[in-house]
Amino acid sequence: MTVVTRFAPSPTGELHLGSAYSAWTGWHRAREAGGRFLVRIEDIDIRRCKREFETAMLADLRWLGFEWDGEVRRQSDHFADYGKVLDQLDERRLIYPCFCSRADIEREIAASANAPHGPDGPLYPGTCRHLSAAEGRDRMGAGHEHCLRLDAEGAATQAGPYHFVDETLGRVEGEPLLMGDFVIARKDTPTSYHLAVTVDDHLQGITLVTRGVDVLPSTHVHGLLQRLLGYETPRYAHHKLLTDASGRRFAKRDRDMAIRAMRDSGMAPQQVVEQALRWAPHDLPDRALPARS
Ligand code: GLU
Repeated sequence: MTVVTRFAPSPTGELHLGSAYSAWTGWHRAREAGGRFLVRIEDIDIRRCKREFETAMLADLRWLGFEWDGEVRRQSDHFADYGKVLDQLDERRLIYPCFCSRADIEREIAASANAPHGPDGPLYPGTCRHLSAAEGRDRMGAGHEHCLRLDAEGAATQAGPYHFVDETLGRVEGEPLLMGDFVIARKDTPTSYHLAVTVDDHLQGITLVTRGVDVLPSTHVHGLLQRLLGYETPRYAHHKLLTDASGRRFAKRDRDMAIRAMRDSGMAPQQVVEQALRWAPHDLPDRALPARS
């Protein structure tokens, strides 16, 4: 089977050393296997994502030598694909409109003695799950702002047990309730990170997902959606995050870690990639670098 990997940045800032390392993992795994390396722009957050950042990120990737195969897929060009899947989930009665504001949710959580917790804090307490279909329709018809949420318990029942394989952890049993009734379509965008990633990994035929270990909890809900929708579950290689000598992870706000800044300081692409691999938090068996051009 041909190995197909992808790098899927959100264009909310410049490409920095941490994301370049993530790109390297996907690029390297595809190239060593004679497979395909794809790039996808995850720009569903239309307020934070900018075309300038997208253009600069792609230029930096090219400069680093991480040439990709085929066309770049930009998520904001494909809202119709996600809409079709939302319709399927709606027909199966697995999604519901949620009219809660952030403040409503906080109030509800504060008032409940044992609000369920997920990896990122308290989970949605399920307030709007109890609205009748008619009431939901009425409020939507009246133009009330809302997102759509997945009914996680209903989804877990329909999906049954599932698992995914992570190269470090081995077989991981899916935990469908880990994120509770997570948002499947945002208020401002007709999709969400979880939905768009799952649909795109499927449509692009991704066989190996290489990404930071910070996203590992999300893999449980991506596995759930894959099972519900009848998609193949790719293999996962969640990598540790690049950190500095004191163990602090790099982020877009670290200006001197921006690839552009390193390039402007006179570093060659090979040196930048070597720098990332030197700081990579594990021994790499094979430090393959892009060919010098
Ligand atoms: N757009 C996500 C990010 O920038 C990608 C996560 C993923 O690879 O699924 O963190």
